Amino acid sequence: MKQIFQKTLHELLLDFKNKKIQVDSIADTLRKRVEIFDKRIGAFVCLIDRDKGQTFKNLPLKGIPIAIKDNMCTRGELTTCCSKILEGFRPPYDATVIARLKAQGATIQGKTNMDEFAFGSSTETSCYGPTRNPWDLERIPGGSSGGSAAAVAADEAIAALGSDTGGSIRQPASLCGVVGLKPTYGRVSRYGLIAFASSLDQIGPICKDIEDTALLMNIICGFDEMDSTSVNLKVPDFTKSLIKDVKKLKIGIPKEYFPQGLNEEVKTAVLRSIDILKELGAQTVEVSLPNTAFAVSAYYIIATAEASSNLARFDGVKYGYRAPSSTLSDVYFKSRTEGFGEEAKRRIILGTYCLSSGYYDAYYLKAQKVRTLIKEDFDKALKRCDCIITPTSPTTAFKIGEKINNPLEMYLSDIFTIPVNLAGIPAISIPCGLSRQGLPIGLQILSRPFEEELLLRVAYTFEQNTDWHTKKPKLEFSS
Ligand code: GLN
Repeated sequence: MKQIFQKTLHELLLDFKNKKIQVDSIADTLRKRVEIFDKRIGAFVCLIDRDKGQTFKNLPLKGIPIAIKDNMCTRGELTTCCSKILEGFRPPYDATVIARLKAQGATIQGKTNMDEFAFGSSTETSCYGPTRNPWDLERIPGGSSGGSAAAVAADEAIAALGSDTGGSIRQPASLCGVVGLKPTYGRVSRYGLIAFASSLDQIGPICKDIEDTALLMNIICGFDEMDSTSVNLKVPDFTKSLIKDVKKLKIGIPKEYFPQGLNEEVKTAVLRSIDILKELGAQTVEVSLPNTAFAVSAYYIIATAEASSNLARFDGVKYGYRAPSSTLSDVYFKSRTEGFGEEAKRRIILGTYCLSSGYYDAYYLKAQKVRTLIKEDFDKALKRCDCIITPTSPTTAFKIGEKINNPLEMYLSDIFTIPVNLAGIPAISIPCGLSRQGLPIGLQILSRPFEEELLLRVAYTFEQNTDWHTKKPKLEFSS
């Protein structure tokens, strides 16, 4: 028999239906679980007390707690992007995704750790310190939504939300052995998401399985007039995509995503998974995404340019950290100097440089042109197939400290996820294997814009015919 904390959202909902469970026992069990394990893992930066008087009986989610990345505004609760510059900030409003979750009867379990302002792939740049990978505490959980992925992997949370600008949902999901979906750009409102790179950011679910992913997608997707990039399109019932059938489906395999030097174990696990889908009736076709090699360079111009502009609002005046200062220019200068960490400063400087007159055309404009070429690569490839499968990350989880002093190497961790954000298409990462060292491997499925239903169907078929999603880290330590 599964313990409460081991259950999925849909299993708990079934327990509610059969009157076998009460919301208090879920909240209490999770709290205990976090108390025991999170001192070592560091997935949460704060827990949120539930309003005891509230009743959820008639609401679909019955009060089940969901963990939230610390860059989404939660009314009256700390929201810091894990940066000193937002120290003590409690927003006066809820992000749209939070309001939607609450309206369905979810409670907010707490805020999860992340790289400062979501700049990173390892959750090491948080002002609260790193999150550790539950599968190996010496290793990073991926990033920047590393806290959300580690919490779900360690059964400290039933499900979580993350955000993804260049891979921050999918890469940590892959390295922690859980499911992570980045919806199409425009599918989920970003109102109340603290902006990193506005032309790339998307919010999405990090869950234990595909059914839970579909359930959360049903809640968070949809038009919102508060976000001008939100698309006014009917949201399907994603649970209808839980179909075990990939017969005749054409899967594109892009050769650029299986380069020489790709980690052998990752390659083998992903190719073996494609074979499983073939045995289940799918067909494969080789496709080419020739501009893949330029994606990381273009991304680090576009993303830093947008970040430098978005982060200009943090000046120590209205909210967050203010350094003791005697003049107005001192307030800006000292607050920003002391408030931002190294990686944030690196990106602000890089972005400002790319946007400055004389360099704009050479860098920013050129990067935008490359972005168009990358988008066209996907358009072309996805005419020849229904979806594309690639590894999510070129390696399994690396050691804490291993890449932190080498930004370029760190940036390359997202080589397979970044092109997806540049193209604005949806993608999901699902567990597909374990390395000899017992570290999770993830595979990524991509589709045309607004075809998340297809992603879920392929992922569900794979999940229901394999057992990787049931594998769990052994947490043999206590406190
Ligand atoms: N690791 C990438 C970066 O550092 C992506 C981060 C993200 O998706 N938020 O920019």
